[in-house]
Amino acid sequence: IDIENLTEDQARVHVSTLQAQLKQWAQEYYENDAPSVEDAVYDEAYNQILALEARFPALVTADSITQQVGGRQLKNDLPKVAHPIPMLSLGDVFSLNALMDWVATTEKATQPHLDFNAELKIDGLAISLIYEKGTLVQASTRGDGNIGEDVTANVLQIDAVPKQLNEPLSVEVRGEVYMPKDAFVTLNEKRETEGLPTFANPRNAAAGSLRQLDARVTKARQLAVFLYNAVEAETTLGVSTQAALLTRLAALGLPTNPTNAVVTDQASVEAYLAKYTAVRDDLAYGIDGIVVKVNDLALHAELGNTVKVPRWAIAYKFPPEEAETIVRDIEWTV
Ligand code: NAD
Repeated sequence: IDIENLTEDQARVHVSTLQAQLKQWAQEYYENDAPSVEDAVYDEAYNQILALEARFPALVTADSITQQVGGRQLKNDLPKVAHPIPMLSLGDVFSLNALMDWVATTEKATQPHLDFNAELKIDGLAISLIYEKGTLVQASTRGDGNIGEDVTANVLQIDAVPKQLNEPLSVEVRGEVYMPKDAFVTLNEKRETEGLPTFANPRNAAAGSLRQLDARVTKARQLAVFLYNAVEAETTLGVSTQAALLTRLAALGLPTNPTNAVVTDQASVEAYLAKYTAVRDDLAYGIDGIVVKVNDLALHAELGNTVKVPRWAIAYKFPPEEAETIVRDIEWTV
């Protein structure tokens, strides 16, 4: 659609059609763990709404998909948990140029020559783990950001999640539960022989395996976890940068992803991106991009959040693999 030449009334019609479509896809993805379209298809429709809302701000409503984290409704049969500090999504960009524009905007809002911590964007689902005096007491999903699902019983069955920290700390840590690629292949093969529907990808398999009423099912699914955040990390963990936070989480005995790197300029961002784009297929877990975060935690508070995303981080999403295949096919046939 030619957004520049639309009237507001025409745009309203488009937005409402797109909202209905995206809400259906979001329900399939977040609630049923069974998407019917590729992420890139979802992202394209989502970005169209963003562009239409940017052109006609009157079309932004509180119930717009651009103003909400995750799926609105939660699976009804799991108990609910409130997140006093909301669990947010991430803003995303789809090109290096857009990533560097975000860097420039962020430096303009704070100070020049910031350090950023680059991390892999793990393709799983967000988890919150609450430890009291070093003991795991609660685990919950992100849900709509404010209210998630209580999956404590299930997480207690995941071997990869420490039930005790190395220190008797009280802290809420957050990260990503994922299903390693080999576990995903084994699970789908098993389901196929049993005549059960297979999972579309490791992300949906992880979500479906975690959001179970029977914790024994979760136990059998070989889930793993990487932690990358802590609520009020400066006071609870005594760290002042995102990179130090990751080191501190690891010292507490929590699994962290070891690939992070502090990047300071376009060349180092590009090098990080190139490195992990090249080895992506060889990793034991799925990634769908990289996340670039302001390293100085004091600036996180200063930059704050929108209703949906933090302003101190951005996700760069890899191009869809299908599209890459199509491009390659075209190159071959031309
Ligand atoms: P997202 O998954 O794109 O990004 C935000 C999430 O990234 C965070 O909540 C966190 O869980 C995760 N993450 C992974 N590694 C991280 C790291 N190192 N640091 C910080 N966070 C990290 O956003 P979302 O709001 O969860 O989901 C939206 C996306 O989900 C869409 O862009 C689309 O790709 C996909 N989706 C697909 C469908 C479909 O039908 N195919 C439907 C809905 C959503």
